[in-house]
Amino acid sequence: MSARGAASSTSCRARGRDRPALRLGGRKIPRGVKGDRRLLAVSAWLLGLLAPCIPGAAHAEPFRSEYVADLPFAHMTTTQLRRGSRTLVYSLSIQARDGAPIEGLASAYEPLLVHAEMTKLWALMEAFLDAEGLEGADCRVQFNLNIFIIKEAQMREDARFLSYKQSANQLNYVISAFYDATPQVRGESAIILSTSVGEADTLGLAHEIAHYWFDRACIGRSKQEDSELFARKFEQYYRDQR
Ligand SMILES: [Zn+2]
Repeated sequence: MSARGAASSTSCRARGRDRPALRLGGRKIPRGVKGDRRLLAVSAWLLGLLAPCIPGAAHAEPFRSEYVADLPFAHMTTTQLRRGSRTLVYSLSIQARDGAPIEGLASAYEPLLVHAEMTKLWALMEAFLDAEGLEGADCRVQFNLNIFIIKEAQMREDARFLSYKQSANQLNYVISAFYDATPQVRGESAIILSTSVGEADTLGLAHEIAHYWFDRACIGRSKQEDSELFARKFEQYYRDQR
């Protein structure tokens, strides 16, 4: 939904205020994560093999997106994924109350589930780039991704993404998931997600992570492609693979 020009700095999935909450572009968004949960069992042993948590870094406070600077968070994990010679470091933080992660959010975004999803999304992205004939250059290594899970009420607050909505001329949209490239800090980026009916927004994660890869693989440089168009195409590819 991003306007051209704003897409490289921040991008989001948004929906019109007059649409039902679970619809995007006239199609119902599948919210089920049954398939993802099946992956959980597979990832459990992978965790043991790959030991993805970064020793010593797990307690470092993740870089905080300005869009969630007002909220308290519990830092759940900082994890390093590897594919070949490439690495992707992501952190997962969940909105907290009284110093503890909010229960409904924590259960929807269990670190093992997020790990399985992130692993799957990376593999899918490589296949997608291949299918699209795009070179998956890795022109921005050491580009961390910080995932923040917030309550739906906070996600919907008018003031939260106001500066983005003004810059992208999207004042009439409610944002359901958000990518912040944090252009002021080169090595960091953020994705902000919420839940619906108590489940992880895996579709939102797929869409927003496409914005991350658009920036990381410098796809805009190699092909005259818009970040939002790229994210929508990958979101559809992800849906088709489910
Ligand atoms: Zn988008």
